[in-house]
Amino acid sequence: MWDKKWVIGNWKMNGRLQNNNALVHKLRSMPVQQKVCIGIAPPTVYLSQVHNAVQIVLNNTIHTCAQDVSRFAGNGAYTGEVSAEMLKDVGVDVVLIGHSERSLYFNEKNDIQRHKIENVLAVGLTPLLCVGESLKEREDGREKEAVAYQLSVLKGLKTDCFAVAYEPVWAIGTGKVANKEQIADMHAFIYSEILSLCGNDAKIRVLYGGSVDPANAADIFAVPHVDGALVGGASLTYEAFSDIIRAAEQA
Ligand code: PEP
Repeated sequence: MWDKKWVIGNWKMNGRLQNNNALVHKLRSMPVQQKVCIGIAPPTVYLSQVHNAVQIVLNNTIHTCAQDVSRFAGNGAYTGEVSAEMLKDVGVDVVLIGHSERSLYFNEKNDIQRHKIENVLAVGLTPLLCVGESLKEREDGREKEAVAYQLSVLKGLKTDCFAVAYEPVWAIGTGKVANKEQIADMHAFIYSEILSLCGNDAKIRVLYGGSVDPANAADIFAVPHVDGALVGGASLTYEAFSDIIRAAEQA
């Protein structure tokens, strides 16, 4: 897993039972992809459905990923919350944490993200921390400062492997993609920050996210330190998502 390109589809608040099954079935039937680790992050109510659907492996293993997790651990009187233990129980492997839509609409900041990461690590799942600067921060030349602050949640964590998705907020769902120089520069920076926070032996995956589609995927995967993609809109159709997976396989 840590030596492959990760292509993870973030369905956000999209999907219905029937469509989900059809999409997962087609993805499982794709020709074998040797160099890609495929994941799907459906809405929480569909996690079991997706996990059950990916159990009978046809050609490709597909990892079940969660879009979020509670900052509370275990069980308790936290109406509406889903703990890391519960995600593990239904077969989740990877948990997205800190997606910019969580901080935009639910005001999640570093302290909450830290609790979530700790809960996920404690049950043996893999956190995928999302970081990225706003348009204003980039225009002001403060993009690295913003990302370094978001990455500071990793400080002192007891883990030797860590996955991050670099998602410039201005590129998510907008059709605007960071250019190759911007991606290369930020990914190299994120690598060095993770190594200094988690130790030189840390296993690292840094995915790019923000309007990745079949037309730009190959160029993005060719950028140094790009270990895959977190894909939103283009993960909702088999045609687009499978093209991105194929681009990762050929990178
Ligand atoms: C995302 O939500 O993580 C994302 C990258 O979305 P999109 O691909 O639609 O920009």
